[in-house]
Amino acid sequence: MNSIRAPKFDYIIIGAGPAGMAAAITARAHGLSVLVLDEQPSAGGQIFRNIESLEATRNSEFSKLGQEYEFGSSLVRRFKKCGADYFTDRSVWQIDKNLQIHHVSASASKSNSVNSHCQAKRLLIAVGAMERPMPLPGWTIPGVMPCTAVDVLYKSSGLIPDGEVVLAGSGPLLLLIGCRLLDVGVHVSAFLDTSMNGALLKALPLLPNALRSHKYLTRGLSLLWKIRKAGIPFYSGIQNIEALGTSKLEKVRIGKSGKSFDVTADLLLLHNGVVPNVQITRNLGCEHRWYDVQRYWEPIVDDWGNTSVDHVSIAGDCGRVAGAAISEVSGHLAALETVYQLGVISKVERDNLLNPDKEQKISFVEKCLGKTEGPIMAASDYMRMNSDQIRPYTNKSFYSLGTDGFGRSDTRKNLRKFFEVDKEHLVAYGLSVLAKEQLIASKYAKEAIKKYNIDGEKPMPTKL
Ligand SMILES: Cc1cc2nc3c(=O)[nH]c(=O)nc-3n(C[C@H](O)[C@H](O)[C@H](O)COP(=O)(O)OP(=O)(O)OC[C@H]3O[C@@H](n4cnc5c(N)ncnc54)[C@H](O)[C@@H]3O)c2cc1C
Repeated sequence: MNSIRAPKFDYIIIGAGPAGMAAAITARAHGLSVLVLDEQPSAGGQIFRNIESLEATRNSEFSKLGQEYEFGSSLVRRFKKCGADYFTDRSVWQIDKNLQIHHVSASASKSNSVNSHCQAKRLLIAVGAMERPMPLPGWTIPGVMPCTAVDVLYKSSGLIPDGEVVLAGSGPLLLLIGCRLLDVGVHVSAFLDTSMNGALLKALPLLPNALRSHKYLTRGLSLLWKIRKAGIPFYSGIQNIEALGTSKLEKVRIGKSGKSFDVTADLLLLHNGVVPNVQITRNLGCEHRWYDVQRYWEPIVDDWGNTSVDHVSIAGDCGRVAGAAISEVSGHLAALETVYQLGVISKVERDNLLNPDKEQKISFVEKCLGKTEGPIMAASDYMRMNSDQIRPYTNKSFYSLGTDGFGRSDTRKNLRKFFEVDKEHLVAYGLSVLAKEQLIASKYAKEAIKKYNIDGEKPMPTKL
């Protein structure tokens, strides 16, 4: 691509994670032209990073990543087959108000790092989340890293850390990545849980709601059980952590209940949850709000993912961190809204597609016309696109007549005749339509044309 031509798409999606892939599949199923841009060299997003190659070349390790990865690989396959244009290694760095999107190569070494741009009718931002920084004394010493960075190295290149590893922080991803490291034989020497004392007690009133998602609770408990079973020291209620070392990490100082002790370590992995990646929504001027429960800024969206900026919506963790499964659903939802907004489906169809197990809604027009027989003909003193708006709500052949063409001054009666929407033309057209549909013999149409003196050779008003 070069920077002069700006290819146009109905729908441009930034991010090929679960949310972006799901949106592309749904939008393509409804015939939209779709472009997906992603920084990574392959589809999958954070959770399913490098999944195709992992499955193909490191099959034994693939099974260790968990059951959802099998589902992830099927999602990637469906995405690759859906017919969306998909550019890998493209980093979106600027979006203009008219939805012109600028992107460059994400890997500096590539020669095609020239800025390219493309134009969207509607834009979906599905750029996921980023790790919340966890600053502590000594966090810039070599050997102190964000926890997910190790996960990225493992998934993309199969690299695993040497020596003694200490994991510190809180949240499910810390446990998940810790257990993954154990599975591949990394020596984990301690888990430092920094959740506040009494956090479990505080969360107790939320238990009945949490039980509805008991799968996640069971999964969390099984991760904790795995760590205990492996005999890894698990310290809860940690108040202070300090990374110590001169040229590299040597030990971790741990403070708990006013006392401190040291653990030797070659690598300290930090994690304190993830927060929505709001760089692009900020750049676009979308409205944001503070979400106190998770303590982060998030873009304000409606039920369909629409932001405060026209034609821009959001799906996945960059709206609110909720995990891969919900990100995927929100991608389908946002795409259905786009398909509706672009006039491909009606509001009723959109709602029905979202609720296939509920009684399907019927639009007002369908209710009015559903029981009639034969084709439908709509005539208007305005342009045809006026009556064409009800076309998607009828399941019958639909013919519309209107006053398209150059405007002119005359009486209403004469204009109707000129644009062929007067009563004589309507009768003749009506009979022609019935004959075309083989519901009557064509002689009746011919008789009407003759009776009303309709000139078959007269030029079409739209061509004048
Ligand atoms: C580092 C990390 C590791 C994780 N690992 C796990 C895990 O192992 N298991 C688990 O259950 N959950 C994991 N999660 C959480 C999980 O990834 C998310 O809940 C889920 O992937 C969200 O899906 P998504 O489609 O919203 O975003 P993502 O999957 O994050 O996909 C977003 C995509 O957008 C791309 N992108 C971002 N900015 C730009 C830009 N400017 N231009 C172009 N492309 C861009 C990214 O490259 C990425 O591919 C992880 C989260 C993070 C941040």
